[in-house]
Amino acid sequence: MTRLLYEADPYLTKFDATVTKVQGEWVVLDRTAFFPGGGGQDHDTGWMSGLEVKVVRSQDGEVVHQVPGHALSAGDRVDCEVDWERRNDLMRAHTGEHLLFSILSRMSPELELVKIAITSPKKSLVVRGELSWPMMAQAQEQANEAIAAQLPVSDVWVSKNSEVLKDIRIKVDRIHGDKVRVVTIGDLDKAACAGVHIQNTRELKMLLVTKLTSARPVGDYEIEFETGRRAMQTALRLSSIGLQAAESVRAQPEHLLNALSNLKGELLVAQDAVRAYGRQALKRLEPEKVEGVRLYSGIFDGLDKKTLVDSINELIGADRTVAIMASVDERLTLFVATSKDLEIDSREVLNRGLKVVDGKGGGGKNFASGGASHPQRAKEALDAAKDGLRALLTAG
Ligand SMILES: [Zn+2]
Repeated sequence: MTRLLYEADPYLTKFDATVTKVQGEWVVLDRTAFFPGGGGQDHDTGWMSGLEVKVVRSQDGEVVHQVPGHALSAGDRVDCEVDWERRNDLMRAHTGEHLLFSILSRMSPELELVKIAITSPKKSLVVRGELSWPMMAQAQEQANEAIAAQLPVSDVWVSKNSEVLKDIRIKVDRIHGDKVRVVTIGDLDKAACAGVHIQNTRELKMLLVTKLTSARPVGDYEIEFETGRRAMQTALRLSSIGLQAAESVRAQPEHLLNALSNLKGELLVAQDAVRAYGRQALKRLEPEKVEGVRLYSGIFDGLDKKTLVDSINELIGADRTVAIMASVDERLTLFVATSKDLEIDSREVLNRGLKVVDGKGGGGKNFASGGASHPQRAKEALDAAKDGLRALLTAG
């Protein structure tokens, strides 16, 4: 059995130990401060006698350390160091997760903690039950009050039959040994957990929820959060973005959500109108006669592509018909379609049009489309495609 130094002192970063076993890249020590991960918290990394400790795992009551390139054997003494920046970030977030979920479950007791994932790039918990941004705002306020109140975080081992376990947060199926460690945050929370924690909530500095999204299965939510300096930096960055967003839609920051919702409504109305006018314009299109073929062509600003494509497909339902249309938004999209009875290849016509505007496209013989980044050159592309069609029809 490895002596688990992190249990007695989660702040210990440097220690020496004796190698007890070696298996390939994996090294077992008589004692270790490397946390092998658990309770959703990722394992530590660090250095063993100057070599990188890449992965640490718990295996059959032992802690095994992956140290690529080592030449150690049983009995060797090693100097070890835990990557403290990483560990501190992880154990802070882990304690932050205790705090956040405890506050949430107090607000809404039916919430169930499904999954915890505390890694360097991402700290998240998946919760089953109804959650909302207003709830998150309230929970964050309480969490940050608890941080400001500098609540002590302590732990104590109790027997698995202890009365203490009756009213704490615990997942009974996760208890393996005879003893259970109870982690307490002030008078706010008691939970069974064998992980590593900070000693006082003030070490969190700040807790910020950065994302709330629906997760699978339906009814689950994933909450992402950050603590410490990263939380502060993210809060400042997002606050500045929010203020700029409010300014750009000429709303008071407090009214930004309403303003966006109004804008969305107005956009839908405008899109409907453009679609209706676009359909009318498409219906009124008169074909030109080119070498015995009916050619429909036009440039449509801001019309959604689906409406345009539907109309094109309708037009080429008639024999001896070609449609060359351009749709213009931030980009230029050119469509070429030919009725099935014609030998003309749409792709050839399209390429002649796109060539003059450095565009790219593809498709089938009867329907091809492509784009270019110069919306203002739509007429040029359209004319080139029409000239191309004329040339191909004459040659044929
Ligand atoms: Zn914990």
